[in-house]
Amino acid sequence: MSSSQAAGRRERILRAAVREGLLDPEHALLAGFVDLDGVAASVAALRRAFPDGVEVLHAFAAKANCLVPVLERLRRLGMGCEVAGPGELAQALAAGFDPGRIVLDSPAKTRGELRRALDLGIAVNADSFQELDRIDGILAGRRSSSRLGVRVNPQVGGGSIAGTSTATATSKFGVPLADDGSAERLLRAYRDRPWLTWVHVHVGSQGCPPELVAEGIARAVEFAEEVDRRLGRRQVTGIDIGGGLPVDFGSDDTAPGFDAYVALLRARVPALFGGRYRLVTEFGRSLLAKNGFTAAYVEYTKTAGGRRIAITHAGVQVAARTVFLPEAWPLRISAHDGTGAAKGGPPVPQDVAGPCCFAGDLVARARPMPLLEPGDLVALLDTGAYYASNPFGYNSLLEPAVHGALIEADGTVRFELLRAAQTLDELLTRTGG
Ligand SMILES: *Cc1c(COP(=O)(O)O)cnc(C)c1O
Repeated sequence: MSSSQAAGRRERILRAAVREGLLDPEHALLAGFVDLDGVAASVAALRRAFPDGVEVLHAFAAKANCLVPVLERLRRLGMGCEVAGPGELAQALAAGFDPGRIVLDSPAKTRGELRRALDLGIAVNADSFQELDRIDGILAGRRSSSRLGVRVNPQVGGGSIAGTSTATATSKFGVPLADDGSAERLLRAYRDRPWLTWVHVHVGSQGCPPELVAEGIARAVEFAEEVDRRLGRRQVTGIDIGGGLPVDFGSDDTAPGFDAYVALLRARVPALFGGRYRLVTEFGRSLLAKNGFTAAYVEYTKTAGGRRIAITHAGVQVAARTVFLPEAWPLRISAHDGTGAAKGGPPVPQDVAGPCCFAGDLVARARPMPLLEPGDLVALLDTGAYYASNPFGYNSLLEPAVHGALIEADGTVRFELLRAAQTLDELLTRTGG
């Protein structure tokens, strides 16, 4: 999709949302939107990118957007689901995923969680030797159809964002491959456990270049091949390559797409595509981020110390990463009048602030954009993953509604409620009131 097409779709959705009262300067100051046609197109691009001869389960990383209707839609589009705890597992089951298409990853799985996963036949990637010992104990008393693997840390280093780099030398995730004696110990663990048939790796997320991710996957596959060579049997049958394709938060570009990523993997790790292994992928951000935005009204504008500031209703409660780590997580913002129409006018540097009671609650600083006025709308772009679906409870601001949008052939926008706005009663109950 071209940049103007993407902007056109957003404007169409925004205008329809204002007309239908989903955005309202009194009653609906803030809302998230997910372009459901866009989600379907992203899933289709992912599925198309992998060659036909390879058996692959694409498991959506639930933490990127855990709203049950979103998960349900992804299931209907043929996805599986990757979860990392009892909440996400409950959401995946509520969305109707077959347990055989769910993958449980977490560095802190309890005995109870493991028992339940093994009973249901959910795939489990163990994160440590201690966790393998727990699984031994559980398997001693039962049979399980779960696919079982170990998450390895290929220790290939980090990307530009520390918090999303999971394959550094000292990462808390997985079994390190390069530490003294660690790979040998893991080889013995596979030798002693013939049911250990998968190898899992997730190098990192935003900020990690695809080449680094591919390098980590290559090390994981080398380890899998070493297991089979040393044991003299064909034990490893599957590789879970994780997620982590970065997205471009600076434009409407979707490069590098899934096709370019798969081309890179085919060049760097051809063994993945030889038919020898089944594959699992765990993409989150790259499927959802660019298919969502968050819209909010401008309540007031002012100047202070020569700075122009627009006070809006979108701040840290829906954009925690951007507010706390603005250099790592910049967001584009588009300006609209109160009808949702794109605003014109010369770009004027403005701070775009949220409503919260701390000075750092800014989603943009000195951002050149048409001059905002009270009653205008701003749209925070590319927030379909890890934003409105992951609220932050500051100042007891209510969690906004999230709406799915579909645009019909004649241009009509059809909305579907993905999450209702939190009510004051719900907030009071949640806070013991
Ligand atoms: C977060 C996570 C993912 C998804 O990462 P994205 O960058 O959103 O694609 C996949 N696998 C694991 C284990 C994760 O923790």
